[in-house]
Amino acid sequence: YQMSLSQLLEAALAMKQDEEAIYDGYRRVTYQELDREAGQLASSLNQLGIGKGDRVAVSLPNWHEFIVIQFALAKLGAILIPFNTRFRKDEVMYILNNSGAKAVFFPEEFDHIHHAQQYREIEGSVPTLQHFITVRFEASDMLSYDRLLEDGKNKAILDAVIDPLHDVYAILYTSGTTGRPKGAMLTHRNLVHTAVAGTECMECTPNDVFLLPTPIFHVMGLMFVLRTIASVSRMVLMEKFKPEKALALIEQEKVTIQPGVPTMYILELNHPSFKKYDLSSLRTGEMGGAPAPVEIIKRIRSEMGCNVLVGYGMTEASPTLTLTSFKDDDELRAETVGRALPGVDLKIVDEQRKEVGIGVVGELACRSFGLMKGYYNMTEKTREVVDEQGWFYTGDLATMDMAGYIRIVGRKKEMIIRGGYNVYPREVEEHFYTLPYVNDVAIIGLPDTVLGEISCACIQLKPNCEATEEEVLTFIKSKVADYKVPDKIIFVDDFPMTPSGKIKKVDMQNKIKDQVQ
Ligand code: ATP
Ligand code: MG
Repeated sequence: YQMSLSQLLEAALAMKQDEEAIYDGYRRVTYQELDREAGQLASSLNQLGIGKGDRVAVSLPNWHEFIVIQFALAKLGAILIPFNTRFRKDEVMYILNNSGAKAVFFPEEFDHIHHAQQYREIEGSVPTLQHFITVRFEASDMLSYDRLLEDGKNKAILDAVIDPLHDVYAILYTSGTTGRPKGAMLTHRNLVHTAVAGTECMECTPNDVFLLPTPIFHVMGLMFVLRTIASVSRMVLMEKFKPEKALALIEQEKVTIQPGVPTMYILELNHPSFKKYDLSSLRTGEMGGAPAPVEIIKRIRSEMGCNVLVGYGMTEASPTLTLTSFKDDDELRAETVGRALPGVDLKIVDEQRKEVGIGVVGELACRSFGLMKGYYNMTEKTREVVDEQGWFYTGDLATMDMAGYIRIVGRKKEMIIRGGYNVYPREVEEHFYTLPYVNDVAIIGLPDTVLGEISCACIQLKPNCEATEEEVLTFIKSKVADYKVPDKIIFVDDFPMTPSGKIKKVDMQNKIKDQVQ
């Protein structure tokens, strides 16, 4: 699918005009309005001197304006730099400087951060940054989104000429689960390809309604925006994920597709008012971003009454590498993340990057139409992870079976080597999820003078539940070999999470290390 994002929207407009494309709890926006407003904004940005190849940063919640901006930039051929609304001054400066952004869009106050104030403090220290644009509020010393929209009325611009194969549409920063976020340069083709292939895999139709509970400044959220446009359906944006709010929106908006990270489903299923809501409109879920516990897949099927696809990917791959529905051969494949998405090649390699046999654990490598052009301003880092033949080494450990189904074993960085034995946290975590009182769990490695590393299970119990270390250990000992049994059990109230909803094991590790010593 060698198409630009503007062409994707054009194709949608040919099918729907006055029908709703976006609902964000604030406004309902039709396809026509989305296109018109994106054109107006593009024309004003153009007046400000923003054109092809210029970087424009956007740090907004899931608001419809974000999507208007996305398509305005697509029309200009400018490059979108989305980033987290929770970032503090230093993190913001890192991204703005690293990307060389010319303009930035932001809200007034969100996530307890006074953004306008933060940008006033930054002014002058990011040499490339010329335009500060406020969204949903006005400030006398700054430009505003509303004013730009107004100024752009009746001043159509011609879409920039885009080469979808080579022109970068966005620089997306990785979640930062294992270190400092890296900026992946994704082309128009990268994103359109995975969006279209994804909708085909999901059998989407224009009647579908997507719920978008994950932030669209992250690749998973962005992908669902594009999948909505690719399938000419409708999206319901959530400013912040709250389990009961999500359940209410599914009922109210007749949502058919609810994607999310596992934690979100866990929170919904365990919510005391779960049964109050009518979820019969749901056709399918899609779980990705973190290991999908088999137990949760089963509960989604039986308690939410819908199918669930399992997907796997990463920012660098736009992001989808596998996406599979387990409708037919449940038992057999439920522990895998399925097979390669069309357009993706996968292989498993050893330390020397030589392919290993069926069922052997190694690093997963991929080649894909969705694979990034490289990390922005990190040539060295790019060379470390992409070889001359275009294979990208994901840093994830996995196995592949005869039929090409991939089982993710864990991250290379998270594997625990305990007295010479490899412990894969994921495998042990799966057993914890079957315990009725466990809400969430993370197994991490801790340094040990004798064994090198030992493993520690951090357990978060469900509300009003109790459990003792002994009973947990007795259970787990009956399930896994002794060297895999956690050496320590710790009960925690909550976990440090990435904005996309993943447990930050490195932070957890640092926290526990201090506690234990
Ligand atoms: P960073 O690269 O900055 O450390 P990150 O890898 O978490 O952060 P993302 O690109 O958002 O950043 O996440 C991709 C990673 O998420 C994958 O490499 C993999 O480890 C994990 N992941 C995604 N989907 C799944 C899945 N279905 N099962 C297991 N792990 C998954
Ligand atoms: Mg990563």
